This record gives sequence, C-alpha cells and structure tokens, in this order.
Amino acid sequence: MDLNLKTPLSEIKGIPPRFIKRLEKLKVFTIKDLLWHFPSRYEDFSEMVPIAQLEPGQQATVRGIVRDIKIRHSFRRRFVIVEGRIADESGEIKAVWFNQPYLLNTLRPGRAANFSGKVSSGENEIYLSHPAYELVTRGKTEMNHTGRLVPVYPETRGLTSKGIRFLIQPILKSVGYIPEWLPEEVVGPAGLPEINSALRDIHFPETEESALSAQKRFSFEDLFLLQLMNIRQKLKLAEEKAPAVKTDVEKLKKITETLPFKLTLSQKKSLWEIVQDIGKPKPMNRLLQGDVGSGKTVVAAVAALLAAENGLQSAFMAPTEILARQHFLTLKKIFVGIPLEKQPEVGLLTSKDAKVFYENDLEGAVSKKEFKNKIESGVIKVIVGTHALIQKDITFKNLGLVIVDEQHRFGVRQRAQLVHGKKIFPHLLSMSATPIPRTLMLTIFGDLDISIITELPSGRKPIITKIVAPANRGKAYQFIREQIRKGRQAFVICPRIEPADAKDEKTGEARNYSQKLALWEVKSVKEEYEKLSKDVFPDLRVGMLHGQLKSKEKEKIMSAFARASADKKDGIDVLVSTSVIEVGVDIPNATIMLIEGADRFGLAQLYQFRGRVGRGGHQSFCFLFTDSAAKTTNERLKAITEAKNGFELAEKDLKLRGPGEFIGQKQTGLPDVAMRGLQDFELIKLSHEAALEVLKKDKNLKNHPLLAEKLAEFEKKIHQE
Ligand code: ADP
Ligand code: MG
Repeated sequence: MDLNLKTPLSEIKGIPPRFIKRLEKLKVFTIKDLLWHFPSRYEDFSEMVPIAQLEPGQQATVRGIVRDIKIRHSFRRRFVIVEGRIADESGEIKAVWFNQPYLLNTLRPGRAANFSGKVSSGENEIYLSHPAYELVTRGKTEMNHTGRLVPVYPETRGLTSKGIRFLIQPILKSVGYIPEWLPEEVVGPAGLPEINSALRDIHFPETEESALSAQKRFSFEDLFLLQLMNIRQKLKLAEEKAPAVKTDVEKLKKITETLPFKLTLSQKKSLWEIVQDIGKPKPMNRLLQGDVGSGKTVVAAVAALLAAENGLQSAFMAPTEILARQHFLTLKKIFVGIPLEKQPEVGLLTSKDAKVFYENDLEGAVSKKEFKNKIESGVIKVIVGTHALIQKDITFKNLGLVIVDEQHRFGVRQRAQLVHGKKIFPHLLSMSATPIPRTLMLTIFGDLDISIITELPSGRKPIITKIVAPANRGKAYQFIREQIRKGRQAFVICPRIEPADAKDEKTGEARNYSQKLALWEVKSVKEEYEKLSKDVFPDLRVGMLHGQLKSKEKEKIMSAFARASADKKDGIDVLVSTSVIEVGVDIPNATIMLIEGADRFGLAQLYQFRGRVGRGGHQSFCFLFTDSAAKTTNERLKAITEAKNGFELAEKDLKLRGPGEFIGQKQTGLPDVAMRGLQDFELIKLSHEAALEVLKKDKNLKNHPLLAEKLAEFEKKIHQE
C-alpha cells in the first residue's frame, strides 16, 4: 500500500484496532501524527558489556543465550516472578521480571537475545532487574530496544514505549521520501539536519549528538515559522495608514509638569517612544511593559490626551469591569489638572450604565443610547470599557488610538475588529505587567515594539518580605490580625497542589494537566478558606475567590474587597484566592500578601503577587510560607527579596524552570518542541535571522511554496487557540 503522511493508521494492515484506540488517546491518528510523536527522552543502552564485567549500578546491554527460565510465585503468591539465567562466553547472570509470565513464550531456553537494563546487587550475586530484551535472530542487524540509545515516548495505558517503537520502526522505513520544506539557504548555514534524517534520528539516533541535532531541527522549525509570521505581520502593518498624532513638545512638557507626581525616567522614555510612533502616519504596534504599580496607566493617559488634542478618539480596553472603572477614575484624576483649553470628554461604558466625565469633576450617568451617539458624533474622546463592551456595538467617529490592558496578543486582533474594514488603522498600545524575559518577548511578540518601565515611582516603601517557617505560622497570623485591626487588608494566595486524580467524575474522561491543576487549586482555596474563617480569624471577614466562580460573583467579591474595611456591612478583610486574582487591581489599603506553598510558584509569579500590595502609603508585608526545609528552596525564595524588578527574576526563572512558567502553551498556541526551543537563545537568534533573510528576497514566499503552505497551517493553528 502506498503510504503517505496523511494516511490514517486505521488503514494500515497489521495494526490491531485496540492499538488504534490507544493511539487516539495520545492524539495520534495518522502516519504523520505517529512519526511526530517524539520521544521525551532516551535510555542509553548502547554499552555492550561482557557479562563477567558487569558492575552493580551500571546501565548496560548484554548479549547472551537464555539458559534456563522459570516462574516463581512470590511471598503469599501476590505476584509472579520470572527468573532466567543468561550466559555469554564470559559468564552467567540472573535476570528477573515481575508479573510477566508470558515472557516464557518468547524467551525460551537456547534463544539468543539482547538484555538492557540496570545491574542490581542481590544478597550473594548481581542480577539484571527488569531488563528490556530483544531477540537476536539470523539476518537481523538492527536493534530497536536494546544495545543502543533507546527512545522513551509519552505513553498511555496499554501502549508502552516498546509498543510505540514497534509501530514507528517499520512505518519510518516505508513512508518514503518526505520533501524538505525548510529553504535550502536556511538548513545549510544553520547546520541543521535535513528532514528525513532528522526524523530518523529523533526516533532511533546512533549517538546522542544526532538525537540533539534532530531535536534542534524540530525546535527550529516552529521558531522559524513564528518569526516568519511575526515579521510578515509587521511588514504588512507598516503598509497600512494611520492618523498621525502631532505633538507640540512645549504642550507635552506642560502636561507632564502638571501631573500630580513626577514621571519616572522610564515612564518619560516610554512616553517619548509612543509620541514618536503615533506621530507617524502608520499604525503603532507597541507593548508597554512594567511591573504592577509602575505607572503604565499614566503613560497611556497622556497618549490619549495627545490624540484628543488632535481631534482623535481613544478606546481604552480592560479585561474586567472593575479594571475599567479603575482606569476611568485614574484618567479623571489625571485630566482634572491638565492645562488645556478644553479637557477631553471621558466616558465609561459598563454593562449596566454609562458615565461621562467632563471638566473639573462633573460626572453623570447617561443613557446608553445617548452615550453611543456621543461617541458616534465624536464628542466623547476617550472611551473606557471592557473589551467585550467596546467591541460589541460602538461606532467611532475617528478612532486614533486603542489601548489594551493585559491582553497581549489579542490586542492586535481587537484592533483589526474595531477597524471594521476602514482604510485607516488606529495606533495600538498594549500594556502588560507579566514579566516576560526579553528573549521570549522577541520571539512570541516579535511583531510588537516594546517599551519597558523598569523602576517603580520613587517614594514607595519597599515591601518587607519574609520567608516564614512552619513554626512561625502562629506569629504571622497574630501579626496579620494586628494589621487588620489597624484597618488594613490581606491577600492569601493558595498554592498549586499536584493533582492526584486523573478523571472527570461525571464523564469519566481523563482531564488534561491544566484542568486538573485548576481543580486542585480551587480545592486548596476552599480548604484554606474554611480554616481561616472558622479557626484562625473567626472574628474577621474572610472572602474567597477562585476561577470557578461566575464572573459576576468574582466582580462582587473583588469590589467588596476594594471597598475596603470602611464598609462595615459587607466589606472583606482577608481575601483567600487562587493565583487567578486579577492582575492590576489597585487596592492601596491592602498591605499583606501571604503566599501559601510559596516554593510551588515560579519566582516571577511570586514577585507579581507581591506587587498587589505596597500601593498605598502604608508599610506593606509579604509572607512566603513554605513547608519545604530544603536549602535550595530558601535560596530560591531569597532571590525575591533581592530582585530589583520582575524582569530580572523572569530571566532567572526561565533558566530554572523553562518557558512554560511565563506563558502557558495555551496562550501562545506553541507546540512543545517550540516551547523547548524558547530556552535556546542561539536558536532564537538563528531563526530570527533566517526568517529575515528569506523574507528579504521573497516577501510573499512565491519561490517557497512548501514553506508558504506550512506557514499558513501554522498561523491557522495559532489563531485557533
Ligand atoms: P500599573 O503600571 O500597574 O498600571 P498604575 O498606572 O495603576 O500602575 O499606577 C499605580 C499607582 O502609581 C497609581 O496610583 C498612579 O497614580 C501612581 N503613579 C504612577 N506614576 C507615578 C509616579 N511617577 N510617581 C508617583 N506615583 C505614580
Ligand atoms: Mg494597570
């Protein structure tokens, strides 16, 4: 039969249907899927050793004859032990397997086989414990399971690595030549193996180097496509038109001077970068990164002000209503003192009502209809709301700037939707507090230009951070109670617990890892909430927040917490939450951040949690609770107390824990191999240069039809996420 990559495995004779079912669990349906089911690691059984020279503890392969093999029942007959003796010219050794009585069918006395595994020491002799084996028959030269680097695959119940090897080996041979889609000028100079040999080597490498270089090729593929996608998007956008926002530098100076505070150096620098971008008649595509509390909103507000001065509207989009309200209030504060002839009119659109702010402190609710009319006629210059609300049914008169808070990649698509097929694009300013290392930034968001705010406004009191050992838990609780008595508030963040159960109770379906994790986070929050509200702080008002609450409920709880202890009736003093608590919510009265199981979080994430406190005038505290007594844990946590900013920690985390910590696979839509590639700075650079090189000569990939096809597939996959 003619095999090609698209052939479904079910059409191949010789693969039993029960295997097909198991493969489907691994999301393997076609030949392509199977061949791209890569090993997660290799077992090194390449060392062939004469039996007499085996040493305890060694991983090795011996080739010998089965002398004698029998079944023994163990203690109380609870399991079956197969015990054999294997001999070569140099000596003899025992081999032991548990619960595999069927081995007697294959490993008959007199047969020759390879045995790979660990040499263990028993009471009086050494033996091979549970070795992998492979019969040696006449004419057979190639070994797949022993005597070499042996691939170990992601497995599923009833389908072991050995089974997967059995399937892959013959298919790899019969699938025929796969056309190379990476351009020649890329493969050669980068020193990457060609696709057919890479595929062979990733499954059955001769040496470790060949395995690594095959892995490198497949990582490169995805990085390269990602770079191509980003660069092409950038080029395409550069051809679009946008309204140029002209800035009178004297006026800008006056504006920044009358702000209620002095801008930090990097706020000024970022603002200047934005001013220059929006001054051009082509769309800005900029990401403003800065720690929580570093003052991104002010920078965006000034940009909106400048747009308004040019008669242009801005849309300020937040992920939640609470954040939208917060931004509206901030804008109000900032705009009040501004020395302009006419203050821009600011509107807040929420699901319930609309508010319009104009001059000094006039603020009034208007009907939605009126609100929309004022936007359509261009009276309201700055419109604040959630993404959903602004997108839904608002028509702008002349939208010049879109500001998106905390939604990196989506910003680009949202702008496209707001444009509604118009010829003029608004500028885009995306804001994020997620500390992503620069190397990752350049790859994942390579289509964006980046401004970074590296310092917090001066005058902030540093947050006192303590690693709390289990013995001091009581003291910490006492301290928190005193703080709350003084009118302050506390966050308690609960850890991830490694999930134990694998199935959904209702459907019996296996859950994926992130679903399990989310479930268990909620479990730990509920338990902690019970404990704190009943035993530890029965006299205080304890609230609970987690990802499974409806968004209405979440907002209710957040605003109860935001209204602070001032609200005697239904305020919240202590908020117990999963790691999902909203980024960016400003609660200046909260001064305590308590993190349970701190060792289970990434450094950058811990740092971000801590950033939720220390935003008001009061001294703030961060308590890192850990049950781990390990010295390395404490050293790792100490890094937080010393770090200058989140980016520094992010770089550290990237080295320690890999890219998955910053950016979930779901967020990027990147496959695993690419995620691995993100740790390899050299490879990132290589892929970037290669992508530039190819596009320079062939912008539309006319001369690279296979590549163009791949890229289209890749973009589709990413956009579906
Ligand atoms: P984020 O970057 O997290 O969005 P915000 O823009 O919400 O930060 O700013 C946090 C707080 O710091 C706000 O109350 C804001 O008014 C204040 N702020 C911003 N810039 C400065 C500054 N340069 N000096 C003092 N306070 C500032
Ligand atoms: Mg913010």
